[in-house]
Amino acid sequence: MAYQIAIVGGSITGCMLAQLLKRNPQVHVSLFERSSSVLGSRGVGITLPLPIIEKVNNLLPDNPCSFYPAHKRFFYRNEVQQNDAIEIWQQTISAAAINWGMLYRTLRHDLDGIYHTDTEVLHIDHGTDKLPSIALAHGSKKTFDLVVCADGYDSLGRKTLYPDYSFNYAGYIGWRGTLALPKPPTVTSLEYHCFDKGHLVSYTIPHQNGALINWVLYSHMSHEDLALFKQMQKSSKQLNKDATEQLFSIADHHLSKEMKGIVRRSSSLFYQTIYDGIAPSVSKDRVVLLGDAAKILRPHLGSGAAEGIRQAFELADTISKTPDLASAISTWTSAEDPQSQHMAKLASHVGNALVTQAPDWSQMNQERMTNWWGSLMMGKLQYFTAPSLTENRMAWQK
Ligand SMILES: Cc1cc2nc3c(=O)[nH]c(=O)nc-3n(C[C@H](O)[C@H](O)[C@H](O)COP(=O)(O)OP(=O)(O)OC[C@H]3O[C@@H](n4cnc5c(N)ncnc54)[C@H](O)[C@@H]3O)c2cc1C
Repeated sequence: MAYQIAIVGGSITGCMLAQLLKRNPQVHVSLFERSSSVLGSRGVGITLPLPIIEKVNNLLPDNPCSFYPAHKRFFYRNEVQQNDAIEIWQQTISAAAINWGMLYRTLRHDLDGIYHTDTEVLHIDHGTDKLPSIALAHGSKKTFDLVVCADGYDSLGRKTLYPDYSFNYAGYIGWRGTLALPKPPTVTSLEYHCFDKGHLVSYTIPHQNGALINWVLYSHMSHEDLALFKQMQKSSKQLNKDATEQLFSIADHHLSKEMKGIVRRSSSLFYQTIYDGIAPSVSKDRVVLLGDAAKILRPHLGSGAAEGIRQAFELADTISKTPDLASAISTWTSAEDPQSQHMAKLASHVGNALVTQAPDWSQMNQERMTNWWGSLMMGKLQYFTAPSLTENRMAWQK
């Protein structure tokens, strides 16, 4: 008889796993998503390592996700007085610039009969000596051989398995926006505009028939200021008039003429609070935590969605190759826990170095930046430049 597997949460990570498990004849998979609307309009740009998006598109060739390859990234120090940006570093990378909504639509495609919208999971029983079960908002209760929680940063699964655990505020926020580009490019690069306790990163992503410049400006904000800021925003993520003025003032103080023009002309301005943290383990009994449910990474290594996708591939692969489900979970957990912990540590380390403890950019040049980045990466492969998932894992485990 096929294993009955439930997935809680139907965003990037949940859909990726559903696509993989539905191809395994030993598995019957059901996905429960609380949202009733199509999620495809959510989010803006993300970057993924090129091998990851290629792997996704090879699996789903009928509905591939568009992306712009990025082979270089450039760091600039902004000379605000001269309204100029001076290049201090360029680095070869292997990344894909993606529209979140397009990636979601690729992963969501052809999950009819598996993906249940408007179906919130209210309770999870992780079943220490029995099979796990979930209670749905509609009133039914269902038992499964395995429950995978891909239910994001506020995960019910994580709260159920590890109730004493919470994520930490990283000390800065990301201000975000997009600007329509009339003429789509074929490639893009990542551009970093660095200033004291912050930077702005921008790249171009596909959008409908055109393209968007997607940017995130990271800037330091104390705990106290964050509390006041949230009060001012009245729990909306879209920037109100005062918050928009605050963003424009940061841009005016720190960015070159061209970049501040892009920020001022952008639409859909919103902010994301940057957190980090990792659950003690990715599984307990017959419940697994995947993607943001298991760990929140600072977004400087293009890693949250990439990690969810990587984990989904590795979990599905372990299930297909292991004779029984309990051994599969245990094998996958033993490999995944150290890898996830390493990634979380690295992302926090890089976040501090790029924002709260950034170096004096005015002293940096190509050679110093190369050395600085090398020591920051703690001797490991840079995520963007790692040639394949397998080599990634091997490099991290060294
Ligand atoms: C500023 C910023 C920039 C980023 N840039 C990048 C980047 O460049 N590259 C990258 O890889 N990542 C990036 N990320 C991270 C990335 O966006 C997330 O890691 C990723 O989208 C998480 O996907 P997920 O599917 O695990 O969780 P989510 O997208 O949070 O999805 C969880 C889903 O579960 C559903 N759900 C929750 N609870 C329940 C319930 N009880 N019952 C049913 N359904 C439920 C929700 O409705 C949702 O659909 C960035 C993040 C930030 C903040």
